[in-house]
Amino acid sequence: MPAVTPEHEEIRRSVREFVEHEVVPIANDLDRQEAQIPEPIIQKMAELGYFGIIFPPEEGGMGLDYVAMAIVTEELSRGWLSVGSVMTRNLITGSLIHNNGTPEQKKNFMPRIARGEVMTAAAFTEPDTGSDTASLKLRAVKHGDGYLLKGSKMWCTFANRANILTVMTRTDPDVSKKHRGLSLMLLEKTPGDDFAPPHLTGSRIPTIGYHGMNSFALSFDDAFVPAANLIGGKEGQGFYQLMNTYEAARIQTAARGVGVAQAAYECAVKYAKERTQFGVPIGNHQVIRHKLAHMAVEIEAARQLAYFAASQKDTGKRCDYEAGLAKVFAAEMAERVTREAMQIHGGYGYSMEFNAQRFWRDARVLSIFEGTSEIQLEVIGRRIMEQ
Ligand SMILES: Cc1cc2nc3c(=O)[nH]c(=O)nc-3n(C[C@H](O)[C@H](O)[C@H](O)COP(=O)(O)OP(=O)(O)OC[C@H]3O[C@@H](n4cnc5c(N)ncnc54)[C@H](O)[C@@H]3O)c2cc1C
Repeated sequence: MPAVTPEHEEIRRSVREFVEHEVVPIANDLDRQEAQIPEPIIQKMAELGYFGIIFPPEEGGMGLDYVAMAIVTEELSRGWLSVGSVMTRNLITGSLIHNNGTPEQKKNFMPRIARGEVMTAAAFTEPDTGSDTASLKLRAVKHGDGYLLKGSKMWCTFANRANILTVMTRTDPDVSKKHRGLSLMLLEKTPGDDFAPPHLTGSRIPTIGYHGMNSFALSFDDAFVPAANLIGGKEGQGFYQLMNTYEAARIQTAARGVGVAQAAYECAVKYAKERTQFGVPIGNHQVIRHKLAHMAVEIEAARQLAYFAASQKDTGKRCDYEAGLAKVFAAEMAERVTREAMQIHGGYGYSMEFNAQRFWRDARVLSIFEGTSEIQLEVIGRRIMEQ
């Protein structure tokens, strides 16, 4: 059976309608103002069920497959990468709880996360530790009926807006235990830019793009998490829980790359038909026409890789290899395609008045987060050597 069915195409049509009406008209202005995604867009996404797309209806989700998740993500990202990314957080936290949570955690958190009634943020990366997850340091020390968190996190995107921070902590003080000493915890908080001083403070990290969501450096100073919020109820499982969840997050990131590249391609095609130089539309010059052809080839290849990885994930089998292939290719493809879209716009490509530069700035992050390209190549390469 093909990965993409008529039902999937119907989902694509409905997401595209939402994006064309609600996102495309405002994305460039909001990006220029470095304004966050407006609340009504998040509310509408929640009503449409996007935050719980892959979770079962009994947990508040839509019960759709990973191919549907990839298509929804692609279409949202075609409008604005930030909008395509806002659901990533709830999908990560929701998957962690759905796959590993205690029955109480599933009952308490899943419906609210799946319905988008609460927003979550992922606090994994630290100032000194990114790719090497097993070396994370933020401590969780037993205290009464819970834990006190002490340490720093870096790049926690959407931390201000979130009701729940999903924090990777070190529960075992013996750092030589590496990944075996890590545990994931859910820190509940009130949304807002002021966080919860003195126990939790945050400062925004200025970035070149991805402006619809802000990323924060966070400082935890004895922030309390009840023991009931230790995911799975057992210490030392956090690393394994996260690695499993990364498969879906990487497929989603590949789909984000496809969406951003598609948007850049469409605006380049339009411009190539409208802009005249040497008496003809620039698309009539073979070099420009071939640029568009290369862009189309690359986007479709990345799209099919993303759907392939998603369909593998739908079988329930391990798919870090397939997710890695899709993520590394789509992220780097998006950089190339958005660069070419800018080039086709000539000087106007460099102007903030045109969308091309936004796609290029946004695309640049895709090979950095959710595991850098270098780390994806390691994942892929190790699997090859195991065969
Ligand atoms: C806009 C943005 C949003 C983000 N949002 C979040 C978020 O919400 N939550 C969160 O937890 N994190 C988030 N991150 C952090 C992101 O996941 C990390 O930046 C990423 O994992 C890389 O970690 P690092 O920055 O510490 O780089 P490092 O790990 O220090 O890597 C530096 C360089 O060395 C390379 N490198 C590292 N190890 C190896 C190796 N073994 N072999 C070969 N090369 C290697 C890397 O590929 C990279 O090129 C975000 C980052 C950005 C830029």
